[in-house]
Amino acid sequence: MKYNIIIIGCGISALFYLYHLQKINSNLKITILEKKPTFGGRIHSISIEGSTIDSGALRFTKEHKDLVGLLKELKIDNYAKLTSKKNIKLSPHLQKKLQKFLQKTSNKKYSSYPLSSIAKSEFDFDEYNKLKLWFGYDQEWENTQCYHWSKSIGNYTEQQYYYFPDGFSIVSQTIYNMIVDNPNYHFHFGEKVMKIASDNNVYTMGNKHFTANHIIFAAPPHYISKINGVEKMKPVLASVGCDTLNRMYAKFPNQKWFPKTVLHCSSPICQMVPIDEEIIMISYTTGKDAEYWIAEEQNGRLWKTLKKLVEKEIGTKINKPQWIKQNYWNPATHYFNNGFIPEETEKLSFKPVADEMWHIIGEAFSMNQGWVNGAINNAKKFIKLCDKNGLPNIQNTKEYTLKEVAKHNKKTNAWIAIFGYVYDITKWIPIHPGGDVILYGIGKDATDMFQNVGHSEDAMQFLEKYKIGELKNK
Ligand SMILES: Cc1cc2nc3c(=O)[nH]c(=O)nc-3n(C[C@H](O)[C@H](O)[C@H](O)COP(=O)(O)OP(=O)(O)OC[C@H]3O[C@@H](n4cnc5c(N)ncnc54)[C@H](O)[C@@H]3O)c2cc1C
Repeated sequence: MKYNIIIIGCGISALFYLYHLQKINSNLKITILEKKPTFGGRIHSISIEGSTIDSGALRFTKEHKDLVGLLKELKIDNYAKLTSKKNIKLSPHLQKKLQKFLQKTSNKKYSSYPLSSIAKSEFDFDEYNKLKLWFGYDQEWENTQCYHWSKSIGNYTEQQYYYFPDGFSIVSQTIYNMIVDNPNYHFHFGEKVMKIASDNNVYTMGNKHFTANHIIFAAPPHYISKINGVEKMKPVLASVGCDTLNRMYAKFPNQKWFPKTVLHCSSPICQMVPIDEEIIMISYTTGKDAEYWIAEEQNGRLWKTLKKLVEKEIGTKINKPQWIKQNYWNPATHYFNNGFIPEETEKLSFKPVADEMWHIIGEAFSMNQGWVNGAINNAKKFIKLCDKNGLPNIQNTKEYTLKEVAKHNKKTNAWIAIFGYVYDITKWIPIHPGGDVILYGIGKDATDMFQNVGHSEDAMQFLEKYKIGELKNK
């Protein structure tokens, strides 16, 4: 049977897409392949000795308009306020300076620079360190591009956060319940997609085979890039990077010491967030700190180290908790790499390869990376690009024939076609790490040459900046 659509991944972006599609046209035949035993992806509430914790997504703000709208539509209102106040206060002077910084760098030209470098040049040493601590996500701070970060932060005022005491999974569960009985939606759990052959023939680890007119990749780029047969997507996948996260919770019945604010610490605890009377997110970390705690647990030192650092932070002795649970995610959240204009990259991700009916949706390429709201917003935009039958109908860029490409075959006017896309690489030639060998490819379809040389992810990123359109009739 040939499906209309195969969806790879069953996180909130896929669920939201299906939920809306059902309203437009419930007759499309869709198969959903999810590698895990259940739906929800990075929304994952777990039960421990009668308590519920969120391993992935935990909180949201009322600024998350798409999520808040969805909650209203689904009549989900059992959320509560989460401690949002931070222990770190920015002085009025630093607030003003930050505000100016955000205004200045919310400009596309700052998409080419890392946040950390620009911030280092605009703030003095102490201000820089304070801001980094105040932000709380070291890996993102170091890696993300300046423009998108500044645009996303918007302003520095404290937001009230909310959470679901019974777990964020209520959102994915409610949507799933509304679509699972559609006879045209075929859900397959525990089916990891391993390979995509020509004409959208999809193979799973369990040796199942499916085929469809369209494939929607509703999964993080890190996983997509591991699927055989999607090499053509590499340039687009390389435009975002990912961070790790480790949420470590502990339960302390009858405790008296939980802080009244979110504690931002310079130790490897990084952030401490009280959840309710008994449960605390005792450490929330990214990057090396996240890995440090995994290693401490593996070496049998988790509680000893944690106790020492927490006691130093709060200034009082603490008893052993009823339980401690680490939740390490890799990839956890995404950011746009330097040199990519987020708005354009998101558009491109809806059809990343000119001659394939492939589409990417989800948080990774969204305008609100790191949040459920981003995953929903991105899926919503994708739905808007579908035709009246709900089928993806996306024409991204200008089209050029190989004949037109061939006219630009000089060092000073150089176009090249790779993976069905056309690039004007005139400005790249002088800085190409491989030197003038690149001149052999100009004015031609150089896909084979490009692949044979074995270019790195970095090369893909550079190339992406020079894209001008698609190759016609490829
Ligand atoms: C630790 C952590 C904390 C977070 N905190 C918050 C928060 O507080 N608030 C908030 O709003 N957001 C938070 N987020 C982000 C939020 O969880 C995500 O933005 C959102 O859930 C992403 O949804 P998605 O559908 O884009 O992707 P995902 O949820 O990642 O769904 C992708 C699915 O694809 C599946 N998949 C991958 N590869 C394959 C394959 N080859 N074959 C089949 N299936 C495959 C995966 O198993 C997964 O189920 C957090 C995330 C993490 C990890």
